[in-house]
Amino acid sequence: MPAPVSSDIRLPADLLPADGRFGSGPSKVRPAQIAAVLDHARDYMGTSHRQAPVRQVVGRLRSGLRDLFSLPDGYEVVLGNGGTTAFWDAATFGLIQEHSQHLSFGEFSSKFASAAAAAPHLKDPEVIESAPGTHPEAVAREEVDLYALTHNETSTGVMMPLRRPAGSTGLVAVDATSGAGGLRFDPAQVDVYYFAPQKCFASDGGLWVALCSPAALERIGSISASGRWVPAFLDLSIALDNSTKDQTYNTPALATILMLVDQIEWMLEGGGLEFAASRSDASADVLYGWAEASSYATPFVVDPAARSRVVGTIDIDDRFDATVISSVLRQNGIVDTDSYRKLGRNQLRIAMFPAVDSEDVAILTRAIDYVVERLT
Ligand SMILES: *Cc1c(COP(=O)(O)O)cnc(C)c1O
Repeated sequence: MPAPVSSDIRLPADLLPADGRFGSGPSKVRPAQIAAVLDHARDYMGTSHRQAPVRQVVGRLRSGLRDLFSLPDGYEVVLGNGGTTAFWDAATFGLIQEHSQHLSFGEFSSKFASAAAAAPHLKDPEVIESAPGTHPEAVAREEVDLYALTHNETSTGVMMPLRRPAGSTGLVAVDATSGAGGLRFDPAQVDVYYFAPQKCFASDGGLWVALCSPAALERIGSISASGRWVPAFLDLSIALDNSTKDQTYNTPALATILMLVDQIEWMLEGGGLEFAASRSDASADVLYGWAEASSYATPFVVDPAARSRVVGTIDIDDRFDATVISSVLRQNGIVDTDSYRKLGRNQLRIAMFPAVDSEDVAILTRAIDYVVERLT
């Protein structure tokens, strides 16, 4: 009998996860979040974001995040449209005084550095790089007024601990787009913890949220008062002003906000950040445990402490083509396990956000074994 071509490989029913979405964003949306939209199809969807029904939901978003992250007094939850990429531009205008330092260790962390480097009103940023699969450390310097960290580098599956550089006075701004809600951290170590809701919060993209310390709020105020020209859409002082009124500067996607609130409240009902992070931990234990025992799969990130608990990157032995594996999985309804394209490795990337069930990750690993056996 001729060897099957990969497109013939059909997974048996017991190797199909209950939910086949393992993408790193947009990511699995829990059915209850979609149901929440349906439940409010008439009294919330399609209604004005300036009126009480929507503003109350934005209020729940802000207070829910305050609880989830145990924010110290004086921190504000600020939000606006455009996702994390828009927030980088907003931060370039409204958070960096003059000189920033960026830890660059993958596609996402390099982008904020590029935005700051291109800004004519700022000094050239200091960019500290490290090889893919590792992360650099911030270095305290007198002239640095903002340290740009990334909680979880989604392109490589590296996470880093959040600590103020010893002796520094600059703001610590953390891109937590894929880490927020799935990784633990001490809010006292950060001034701006920002993210978009299409990853651990299992909602849709297009919104940014920034948890801001009193020092960050002061920076927003002082840059605004300095007369620096800032496009209104990217003006953090305008965003702050609207946020404190439970609104956004321009019209937000209401479904995104509602699904985000549903996820925040699901996390809180389960026990908060510890509950959510433990769900990711359970999945990560399954995934890395399988890869370490495998004859053909290896965790890409060598240092176990840097191995992301929310986005797992698994190198595949050159005998097998990872793109074939992920396309066979896709034909069987298991989607978005492809590696980050620009990383250029023979790799699978698997999201383990809190919405993903660890039992499904376990089934996924057995499904990968099944596919690989049939590719030999
Ligand atoms: C997904 C992601 C982004 C980009 O988010 P957008 O909302 O698409 O702009 C930025 N940083 C990290 C770490 C990410 O994972």
